[in-house]
Amino acid sequence: MTDIIVIGGGVAGISAAARLSHLGHVTLIEAEAQTGYHSSGRSAALFEETYGKPTTRALNSASRPYHETANGGVLSARGLMLLGSADESEAFAHDLTDMGLDEISVAEARAIIPILSDHADRVGYHADAWDIDTERLMQNWLRELRGNGGTLMPGARVSAIGRDAAGWRVIIPLGDVTGQILVNAAGAWADGIAAMAGVRTLGLAPLRRSMARLAAPGGHDTRNWPMMFGPGEEWYAKPDAGALLVSPAEEDPSDPADVYPDDMTLAEGLARYQDYVTPEVTRPIATWAGLRTFAPDRQLVLGRAADAPDFIWCAGQGGYGFQTAPAASALIADVVAGRIPELGSDLAAGLSPARFG
Ligand SMILES: Cc1cc2nc3c(=O)[nH]c(=O)nc-3n(C[C@H](O)[C@H](O)[C@H](O)COP(=O)(O)OP(=O)(O)OC[C@H]3O[C@@H](n4cnc5c(N)ncnc54)[C@H](O)[C@@H]3O)c2cc1C
Repeated sequence: MTDIIVIGGGVAGISAAARLSHLGHVTLIEAEAQTGYHSSGRSAALFEETYGKPTTRALNSASRPYHETANGGVLSARGLMLLGSADESEAFAHDLTDMGLDEISVAEARAIIPILSDHADRVGYHADAWDIDTERLMQNWLRELRGNGGTLMPGARVSAIGRDAAGWRVIIPLGDVTGQILVNAAGAWADGIAAMAGVRTLGLAPLRRSMARLAAPGGHDTRNWPMMFGPGEEWYAKPDAGALLVSPAEEDPSDPADVYPDDMTLAEGLARYQDYVTPEVTRPIATWAGLRTFAPDRQLVLGRAADAPDFIWCAGQGGYGFQTAPAASALIADVVAGRIPELGSDLAAGLSPARFG
């Protein structure tokens, strides 16, 4: 039986581990005491099929049936509204076309979100955007992993990786784990894992993005409001458990770390949101930040390392890790199994690390 080691207990590693547990014995190694502690615990949990580069959109579309149906489905209706103002008309027009939204009147928009200010002079909308129950999605995959005899090792930070004739030897505080296949799903740390394994790194860039949770503006019931996007993705706001999450949508370079929001960045983002709404922004109930880690071409990196075929990259999920996870993990399983990828060979080639030479 093949022994497969997956490093990283975020959505990328959890989904890959579940799929791979049908092919061999999987050990999923996570540095933190709990899974989903880093980026996967800090997302906006949105499924928007038209978000990202063409290869990402293809993964979104291929993931949709799984999100809709597997284990009863994890999507619930949200919708997406793009707001534009006279001084941002170019960015608005670009996003409207790029995301395939329908233009609606400001009056129609106010019937949906009554707090819009006069700053909003153009509005795009579509109902086809969804909340993902991210916790349930990850728990479903962890159950699948355990059901197939896989092992989850939390609190086990990998400190070194060696290799001999038998395969990989991964050093963790309690000893070592061996396997013939090593899957690198370490998020912002994925280049560091490659370096430990003596595999060529990709130049992954972890970019910080912050969030503030605000009390429901003006005491409104926000539950059925769509997600709001500022033009050029300069801010967004999303209903969350009776409150409103607002993000400055920044992309500030960071080292791989347990990141915190920058107060000034948050304040500037909240000011951009404030322009579009009438209730005064109140002191946030909570704030946090997470890392969105991108490859140089902002596409996911899924497949065998060019210089080490038994080292599998599952990285560069950027801002799309949840929405792409069903199809991305299925591709990882096809690659490890040596099957023709269900996603098609062209898409698999476009996502392969081989594109970096
Ligand atoms: C603010 C924000 C909003 C977002 N919104 C969305 C959204 O709406 N929809 C969407 O699909 N995506 C969204 N994303 C992106 C999504 O959250 C990420 O793409 C996804 O979580 C990345 O998952 P991951 O498993 O690669 O990384 P992580 O969740 O960071 O997991 C990597 C894991 O590897 C572990 N690790 C690292 N080094 C080691 C080591 N040496 N030994 C053992 N373990 C190690 C880490 O501890 C970590 O738990 C958002 C992200 C942010 C920050």
